[in-house]
Amino acid sequence: MSAFTLMPLGRRGLVQATNLVVTSLVASLAIIKIVILGLNSLPIPAFFVIVAGVINAIYIRRNGSIDVAAKILIITALFGLAFSSFYTGGVDASVVLFAPIIPIMTVLLINTRAAWITFGLVCLILIGIFILDFNGHIPENTVDPDLLLMSRYIVLICLCLISTWVVSRFSSISRTLLVQLEQQSNIDYLTGVLNRRAIETELLQEIDRAKRSNTWLSLIMADVDFFKLYNDSNGHLAGDTCLKEIAKLISDYSLRAADSVGRFGGEEFVLILPDTNMDKATEIAENLRKIILNQHIPYGPNNTDPVTLTLGVTSAYGQTISGTEQLIREADAALYKGKHQGRNRVVSSISGSSVAQN
Ligand code: GH3
Ligand code: MG
Ligand code: MG
Repeated sequence: MSAFTLMPLGRRGLVQATNLVVTSLVASLAIIKIVILGLNSLPIPAFFVIVAGVINAIYIRRNGSIDVAAKILIITALFGLAFSSFYTGGVDASVVLFAPIIPIMTVLLINTRAAWITFGLVCLILIGIFILDFNGHIPENTVDPDLLLMSRYIVLICLCLISTWVVSRFSSISRTLLVQLEQQSNIDYLTGVLNRRAIETELLQEIDRAKRSNTWLSLIMADVDFFKLYNDSNGHLAGDTCLKEIAKLISDYSLRAADSVGRFGGEEFVLILPDTNMDKATEIAENLRKIILNQHIPYGPNNTDPVTLTLGVTSAYGQTISGTEQLIREADAALYKGKHQGRNRVVSSISGSSVAQN
């Protein structure tokens, strides 16, 4: 999947805005030229660029293909370069200064391959103009040398403006995209809580914090009881909805900003509770068990027993925590003790000892 498929609106905005900036700059230059030189020296190639730019803007606004719009913009710029430099004195034409920005726009709006093709076309245009100029086929630029100098400076400033604008706009889109990707890579696609990768990273950070500040850290592992039965009775899609509902109930309950909720895998959820001792963590786990039980989600049409959770709790203190694996293993062991004891219960453990709560 390309970056742009992830953020189609960003690319549409970029192409639309670039089209607008290029068209309005060419229009401003054309107006300046008419004001200075009068109607006798109409910038015909600029008119074509402006008309194409306006049509392209309407096309993009009406949800036209953004690939086509980007290509129209680049092709228009190439035509503008070729015709404007032909009619206004070859290399003397100020518009020649725009040549380097066209491949740059192409790489930002389309892709690298298209940019190299555009670079080749720009070279062909410049070589063609040079050959025509060398053989005397290009009409002399009759503009006063002082005006010509001035127009070259104006075009240079416009060129700086377009390059700065296009590149800065593109990099801000890329930054937003990176933030989006990072967020997406931490979120469980189905339930919207943290995924296993993010939970493990979070746990590592909280272990460091608990060690530094000599505080308690608790971990709860919650597994939906007989979830296979739920799937078999209601279908996999209903199972997904049930998991989403359970994830939401767990997230809504963990009120403190420092707590983290994640899906460890399948029908298994994890809560990381910083600065929380075993009594408090056990109380939280017990409340969660009751919340799910009181939802009375039936296992199926012929089985009205409510869906339940079994929860394993583990707590460790400051420097005694050896690592993520230890905490996960202990919470998992407590959870499976709860399963063997009959499910729908909380089992807590500190440093290998387990205490059944229900
Ligand atoms: P236990 O009480 O021992 O945990 O029994 P269980 O049936 O919950 O456990 P088991 O490991 O036998 O089955 C887990 C089920 O969870 C089987 C699997 O299809 C289901 N499951 C795992 N991930 C998903 C998911 O993303 N969506 C749905 N609908 N089901 C899932
Ligand atoms: Mg289960
Ligand atoms: Mg399981």
